[in-house]
Amino acid sequence: MSPLALVTGITGQDGSYLAERLLASGHAVHGVVRPGSRGVTDTRVVAHRADLADTAALTGLVRDLRPDLVVNLGGVTSVAQSWMAPDLTHAVCGRAAVALLDAVEDLRRAGHDARFLQAGSAEMFGDAPTSPQDEHTPLRPRSPYGQAKAFAHVATVRARERGAHASTVILYNHESPRRREQFVSRKITAGAVAIAHGETDHLVLGNLGAARDWGWAPDHVDAMVRVLHHPDPDDFVVSTGLSHTVEEFAHAALRYVGVSDPAAVIRVDPTLVRRHDVAVQVGDSTRIRTRLGWRPTKTFEEVVAALIEAELVRRRS
Ligand code: GDP
Repeated sequence: MSPLALVTGITGQDGSYLAERLLASGHAVHGVVRPGSRGVTDTRVVAHRADLADTAALTGLVRDLRPDLVVNLGGVTSVAQSWMAPDLTHAVCGRAAVALLDAVEDLRRAGHDARFLQAGSAEMFGDAPTSPQDEHTPLRPRSPYGQAKAFAHVATVRARERGAHASTVILYNHESPRRREQFVSRKITAGAVAIAHGETDHLVLGNLGAARDWGWAPDHVDAMVRVLHHPDPDDFVVSTGLSHTVEEFAHAALRYVGVSDPAAVIRVDPTLVRRHDVAVQVGDSTRIRTRLGWRPTKTFEEVVAALIEAELVRRRS
């Protein structure tokens, strides 16, 4: 029998890449899909309609499917969105993880060992006192998103201390053509291509000074696969170790499409500047590099170029 993986957040960027990886290595992949959402496009994935706020539905799924892997990627995906719906964020990014962990522990008591992986976020560090951040950096989240993710992180660590094979990945920003345009990377690259096509003459952004550790989503998903397959569960920062500002991202994208004076086409809309935006995020991923042999495959410039090339392909198709 092929091993069975249950993945929340299967319809998102990371979920779709992870499903592909797990299917390719012979797993049966089951995904939790929000009622009313458009669902999974990959017909090989078995979709289960359940709301992440419905903890009874989540525990029922784990009990009935008896998965070998449980990967919790789901929830409110953007920091900005979490400010608009803090209670929902806490339920789907925080309490859902606790429900899944409880269900995994019940399975273990019944003699079935499942591995659990929690997708954490650099947002859990908030205004970190040290830079770069690593697995020992205290959690000081600022946003409801970071707070809910920190809650789920601590619950995962505690489950591991009780004997569960429960790990976390602490993910820094990771981009791909599958990112939605609500994220700044896709907004910038789609905007740069629109400028190159003469459809607009400017790009409107918020906080240009925010610096992020931008990686390539398939690399971060590769990190998840490595953690799941490793015999020893732990917490792992997944990051490139370099940060670039939103302004640098925009300049790189605009130059790539041939705009000679990027600053001249960027406008700042103060209403897009977030309350309590974290100024700089940069992660030290030494642990996963040395222990699991993980490393990023694309530089910042290559990530920007890949996103632009994907926008151009999208337009031609
Ligand atoms: P997230 O913070 O992980 O949800 O990822 P985003 O891509 O949405 O935001 C990354 C950074 O870009 C944050 O510091 C934002 O404040 C900043 N930023 C600056 N301008 C914009 C914008 O127009 N849209 C978005 N989404 N973020 C922006």
